[in-house]
Amino acid sequence: MTDLSNPPQPEEGRPQRQRKPDWIRVKAPVSKGYHETRKLMRELNLNTVCEEAACPNIGECWTKKHATVMILGDVCTRACAFCNVKTGMPRIVDSMEPENTAVAAGKMGLEHIVITSVDRDDLPDGGASQFVKVIKALRRETPNTTIEILTPDFRGKMRAAVEAICEAGPDVYNHNLETVPRLYPTIRPGARYYASLRLLEEVKSHDPMIFTKSGIMLGLGEQRLEVHQVMDDMRCADVDFMTMGQYLQPTPKHAIVEEFVTPKAFDAYGAIARAKGFLQVASTPLTRSSYHAGDDFAQMRAAREAKLAKAALKGA
Ligand code: SF4
Repeated sequence: MTDLSNPPQPEEGRPQRQRKPDWIRVKAPVSKGYHETRKLMRELNLNTVCEEAACPNIGECWTKKHATVMILGDVCTRACAFCNVKTGMPRIVDSMEPENTAVAAGKMGLEHIVITSVDRDDLPDGGASQFVKVIKALRRETPNTTIEILTPDFRGKMRAAVEAICEAGPDVYNHNLETVPRLYPTIRPGARYYASLRLLEEVKSHDPMIFTKSGIMLGLGEQRLEVHQVMDDMRCADVDFMTMGQYLQPTPKHAIVEEFVTPKAFDAYGAIARAKGFLQVASTPLTRSSYHAGDDFAQMRAAREAKLAKAALKGA
């Protein structure tokens, strides 16, 4: 019998998981479109960050046949405190992956595709050549699909990697800063904040026409002014598109959620980011780098065209 005068206490020294607020709850993935997307990915031996990162939007995105392909395997050489992807010694790179990614894009009829990867610090080029092969295969097989890539930081190999990828000509180059610099030692210990910023700058200096995109997670213990500073840093690197979404703890072993940021606070951050001059901002609890990426890309492209037209009018 339970002794109610002495209820069980939380494990000492172990912070308790916070209950998710209503605005985070999402429907279970059960639709026909979800199962078709899943089947296609299995048939083509492709991994997705949607599954590996346990993304809360998978039901919605896969129903619409939007999936973010994760190339270079499903094992990462880093172990970030926020990320659910497996860590260890990765397997050999799949030479069919570029072709299979293009086949998937064609079968799903994608107007816009997002490609990401695990970190591959074990490879001499960090995996850059696989990104190049994927971009080329997509251009060949589905020439009307716009391409967004979300890359790692290519630690120690960044310049050559960025150069090779930019030459392949993606439409959007995304690299996430993930959090504020103060939290890097605990949340993203294998990376350096200023190296990531430098990568974003490098993309723009290599090809000013490529849209650049970056994002952070909120709820990891960051302060408001630190978030504003990240926005300023991104603008200094001429980043076009900023994303902000709620961090969710994938398992009890990962970093805890310090705070569930309210939708109202996300709106306020979004307004500040827009005032700082980003072409496009996505800031909601469920925002992820690739969430609604196609619609956001179309809006960003229109915003750039409007900005250029306005500048031309002024100069005339
Ligand atoms: S938001 Fe991105 S990662 Fe999440 S399910 Fe949608 S496409 Fe996949």
